[in-house]
Amino acid sequence: MKKSAIVCGAGGFIGSHLVKRLKEEGYWVRAVDLKNPEYSKTFADEFIIGDLREQDVCRKVLNKNFDEVYQLAADMGGAGYIFTGENDANVMHNSATINLNIVELCHKHNVGKVFYSSSACMYPDYNQKDPDNPKCAEDTAYPADPDSEYGWEKLFSERLFLSYHRNFGLQVKVARFHNIFGEEGTWVGGKEKAPAAICRKVAEAGNGGFIEVWGDGKQTRSFLYINECLEGVRRLMQSDFTGPVNIGSEEMVSINQLAQKVIAISGKAIGIKNIPGPQGVRGRNSDNKLIKSKLNWEPTLPLDEGLAKTYRWISEQVKMLQTV
Ligand code: NAD
Repeated sequence: MKKSAIVCGAGGFIGSHLVKRLKEEGYWVRAVDLKNPEYSKTFADEFIIGDLREQDVCRKVLNKNFDEVYQLAADMGGAGYIFTGENDANVMHNSATINLNIVELCHKHNVGKVFYSSSACMYPDYNQKDPDNPKCAEDTAYPADPDSEYGWEKLFSERLFLSYHRNFGLQVKVARFHNIFGEEGTWVGGKEKAPAAICRKVAEAGNGGFIEVWGDGKQTRSFLYINECLEGVRRLMQSDFTGPVNIGSEEMVSINQLAQKVIAISGKAIGIKNIPGPQGVRGRNSDNKLIKSKLNWEPTLPLDEGLAKTYRWISEQVKMLQTV
């Protein structure tokens, strides 16, 4: 018999790719989100438009013992959304309410396994002050001190899912994603993250021009291409490891290096102008020791390859918008 799965947040970037992946693997998929995927048609067998903050909606969506539930729905965005402070109450209230609703129904209907997408944003600020040597091993999470309310909510919800595992035996899998990027991710409008924002700026810039990059550009990050993220999620679901575990790349670059890579891919002569802007912690990189030891796997795709695919897609979007 076909395995059944629910993907919450299936209109979003990672959720819409995950639905496609589960369909390729032969699952029957029910998808739910406030909105349809923006850039392509969903592959889900059923797509429910609904607000997961509403218990009635959640009860309709999660109404029996599905084999797998993937909880990716969250109120989130890039630095321009989560680090300005203006969206803190919404981020905390909306995402926590969704998680409280979903975990309780997973328990009530005795679902086979539930995946929860946490974030590297839950790691303490004090371990991420040195851009050349950030510490993000899973066991460095405490004493907790995330630099955003988004990170605090992720930490709370990790603990929520793990407590259902301990007290009720719910089969839970928790991953901490580190900057996932790729085609069909948000690239405009204020919720886009650094790789997509930089690809857009480079695609829009003329030869001999320049792009603006927030901060001094020396802050560091690693970025993981979407297919690698999905591979990690599926391997974690099939393993007997609960987590939390990092799903990220260890190829750390500064934001200016990221911009230089995209500029090189574009083939244009473009300069970088660093301007004040929200930037989050000074340094962050995935630490993959745990994933290697528990799943015998880690992401390996070079950053340049994922960036080239993403730049191609975003420059097509920019061209389409310019010709409208
Ligand atoms: P996304 O914003 O593209 O997708 C999230 C989806 O949740 C959106 O489509 C949104 O409409 C939906 N949603 C929000 N509130 C909802 C509600 N009340 N009811 C129903 N749906 C609702 O984000 P994404 O990049 O695909 O991220 C997916 C998950 O992974 C999120 O939980 C996010 O916090 C986590 N994560 C992502 C990254 C990343 O780099 N993309 C990094 C760390 C963690």
